[in-house]
Amino acid sequence: MRRIYLDYAASTPVDKTVKAAMEPYFSEIFGNPGALHWFGQEASAAVFKAREVIAESLGATYKEIVFTGSATEANNLALRGAVKCHKADKPKKIKIITTAIEHESVLETCRDLENEGVEVVYVPVSREGVVDVEKLKSAIDERTVLVSVMYANNEVGTIQPISEISKIIQAFKDKHSTSPYPLFHTDAVQALQYLDCDINKLDVDLMTLSAHKIYGPKGIGMLYARNLYLKPHTLHPIIIGGGQERGLRSGTENVANIVGFAKAMELVRKVKNSETKRISELRDYLLRGLKKISASRRTKITVNGDFKNRLPNNLNVYIPGHNAGDLLIKLDLAGIAISPGAACSARLARPSYVLTAMGLPHSRCAESLRITLGRQTTKADIDKTLKIMLKIL
Ligand code: PLP
Repeated sequence: MRRIYLDYAASTPVDKTVKAAMEPYFSEIFGNPGALHWFGQEASAAVFKAREVIAESLGATYKEIVFTGSATEANNLALRGAVKCHKADKPKKIKIITTAIEHESVLETCRDLENEGVEVVYVPVSREGVVDVEKLKSAIDERTVLVSVMYANNEVGTIQPISEISKIIQAFKDKHSTSPYPLFHTDAVQALQYLDCDINKLDVDLMTLSAHKIYGPKGIGMLYARNLYLKPHTLHPIIIGGGQERGLRSGTENVANIVGFAKAMELVRKVKNSETKRISELRDYLLRGLKKISASRRTKITVNGDFKNRLPNNLNVYIPGHNAGDLLIKLDLAGIAISPGAACSARLARPSYVLTAMGLPHSRCAESLRITLGRQTTKADIDKTLKIMLKIL
């Protein structure tokens, strides 16, 4: 049976050219980039080149790229690093502002920081899955160290108004602040494949990215950190040791993964426009097909979240009368891989906190599926998926 993968928001396969670019860095070019001899310098040059490629595609400079072991770690570094730095400066009660629909690596870090005495404001989102900008604006005050808002959501794919929020933060700073705070962080992990992630256009101070969502390897993420080389530093490290990544993330660099990340970024730039068009057409075709099925089965399949303002590969649908867990198993047995929501919460068998935050009842959350398309998805895959769905429903 040829299996169909429709869970590209969870992870993507490593592209062949990415794999080929990584290959020499396992055994041939294996030196420690921190070593001063030829072997080390060969590896160090590869890391430097990758850093430059990534920086250039974000409109950043190479010094502003901090490689981490995952986006989860980069999110931890952004939040904990900013708090740690600020606490060392002024030990008063400080505040972080985030949204109710962030990835768990942001939300759980926030909860942990609350235990350490940091105040966290979780700004609500609309029924359409978009952050309430007015509420966010009114939460900003002199105690705010960091505002963290994801660029695109991993469950419903909704796109958040990052540039609008950065203008609000800048206006606050112009009026009230002589320091770099509040910093503005965005988790752009899901956005990178399809949206413009130029840091100057978005005007963010910190941005988290991950390679395995863009056909690169797992286990490599990064944090873009604005002007880190300028004093005063705005971030403290959370992993300390040998002082790699200019002291912000100790640990020998994962050279092969870093090279793979840069190659994957290059490919994204090449195919972004054509893939966005192709994938959104396929996704719309899938939705039309699902609606036809639902009409024939006298049930009403509804899209969760704003349909227009979302990633082109995302479809999150409510299928009344069909438990998402049961559907997932039936689809999997028929060779189709789809998730009820984020892969990390799938294990926890609880209603999606993203859909719950959007004000959807638990019964609807339990009957909703996330379908995410990718580079390998073809029209034939969608036709087969629709055929199987028709049978199952
Ligand atoms: N942020 C978002 C929005 C994600 O979708 C994910 C992965 O699912 C992460 C962060 C975590 O990425 P990583 O697997 O690299 O830790």
